Amino acid sequence: MSSNGHDSPLASDPEVAAILHAELERQRTTVQLIASENFTSPAVLAATASVLTNKYSEGYPGRRYYGGNVHADEVESLARDRATALFGAAHANVQPHSGASANLGVYLALVEPGETILAMRLDQGGHLTHGSPVSITGKTYRFVSYGVTPARADGSGERIDLDAVRDLARRERPRLIVAGTTAYSRVIDPVPFREIADEVGALFMFDAAHPAGLIAGGAHPSPVGIADVVTFTTHKTLRGPRGGAILCGEEHARAIDAAVFPGLQGGPLEHVVAAKAVAFAEAARPEFKQYAAQVVRNAAALAAALVADGFRLVAGGTDNHQVLVDLRAFDAELTGKAAQEVLDRAGITCNRNQIPDDPRSPFVTSGLRLGTPAETTAGMRESEMAVVASLLARVLRDRDDQAVVESVRKEVRELCAGFDPYAGSPWIEGIA
Ligand SMILES: *Cc1c(COP(=O)(O)O)cnc(C)c1O
Repeated sequence: MSSNGHDSPLASDPEVAAILHAELERQRTTVQLIASENFTSPAVLAATASVLTNKYSEGYPGRRYYGGNVHADEVESLARDRATALFGAAHANVQPHSGASANLGVYLALVEPGETILAMRLDQGGHLTHGSPVSITGKTYRFVSYGVTPARADGSGERIDLDAVRDLARRERPRLIVAGTTAYSRVIDPVPFREIADEVGALFMFDAAHPAGLIAGGAHPSPVGIADVVTFTTHKTLRGPRGGAILCGEEHARAIDAAVFPGLQGGPLEHVVAAKAVAFAEAARPEFKQYAAQVVRNAAALAAALVADGFRLVAGGTDNHQVLVDLRAFDAELTGKAAQEVLDRAGITCNRNQIPDDPRSPFVTSGLRLGTPAETTAGMRESEMAVVASLLARVLRDRDDQAVVESVRKEVRELCAGFDPYAGSPWIEGIA
């Protein structure tokens, strides 16, 4: 029996059930500020928990290797149709297990091992799959990297350095140019990247892992139709299940599909594909436009409140769902690692992050990355963002005072009680 009296399907495994319940409780009673996380709808959760997890469906709709795929075909076709309609793309591959797999699928389809790819440096806001030496991407291809412009006192610096992109593109003649970031708080205009790619005869991939939901909701410019290929995750601002997807024009469809399967993956996760279909339909509704706009407004409110509390923000603020905090102006001694740990104890969940030209290592860092997608889903608005910022500042200011940490933990719990993402869905306790 779960706590609400329903029979839980997980009653047969109390050990796992207890962990899942504790995780549900953690998500409900702490503030989720990790920029790459969200709260999926009960419908997305239900599809993810469905019997499609039992099915093997290697191949694509109408071209499977095993029998019994009539419904897997239906659900994957639906997901593909909804993805292409949502983003206005010619072709969608909805099978990548993650954003990393989507990126790798594109490289495998379009770039020969050893050829050059131009992408953003990890310590400037890029992603591991943009050529980090510890990633298979960096081991397989020759990556050349651009970064952001120097910081400026008026906040106009720390933008993607398009001059560097152009210079490097001319000098290195990459096969592929990648735009897209994991820690960057400003809008990314795909048009100048297209122009540079055209000038040097490169292909152009836009990695929309973070802003996919903002793009679908009309809050950010769409790279679809401008970039040759767009990859994205379905679980960040898009608010679907954990996974990835690729959009492209017809000219690359066969190569992309062949790279994902059989090039990179075995059987697709059709239960997750079903949940992606649910999420694509949710993102096409008018409410999702309002959601995307609110995510951006909440980030702006969070940024303004943090600046008022003495924090310096990388790039001077935000246009999207995230805020990158440079902790050094607030407290030169405070590392990202120490800040993340004490905030965790106070019930404020976020991640440490390197800031551009960070003097500290990626494991320690001088920054924090904060994001609004999850708590906006839970219903928080600008006024709650101001409260969250002041709680965060209080903990960091008095981080050695256990009484302060405990009192903030209590206030966080009270705040979250009014913003339960799964209120009204008691059946979720039967799974979680
Ligand atoms: C999150 C992210 C990815 C990878 O997503 P996973 O699902 O974690 O593999 C790829 N690129 C960028 C820019 C990201 O932010």
